[in-house]
Amino acid sequence: MIRVVQHRHKCIGCNACVEADAFRWRISKNDGKSVLIGGIEKKGWFSVLVDDHEEKALEQAKVHCPVNIIRFEKI
Ligand code: SF4
Repeated sequence: MIRVVQHRHKCIGCNACVEADAFRWRISKNDGKSVLIGGIEKKGWFSVLVDDHEEKALEQAKVHCPVNIIRFEKI
């Protein structure tokens, strides 16, 4: 499994994560920031556990995020 986290309040809504990995990210119509699909919020960080097969797409989202708020680790 992989734990994905996003420090959402720093998101600038650039859409890069959605372009890299539309399965896991979308832009909110409410505030224009990206949503980690399935994520649960705790103290400003959203997190979700996902299957290992998402790793390549997550890596693309992570490296293209200009404010470096997407992280993940294998657990
Ligand atoms: S790539 Fe980063 S800054 Fe851009 S929308 Fe996604 S989380 Fe937000």
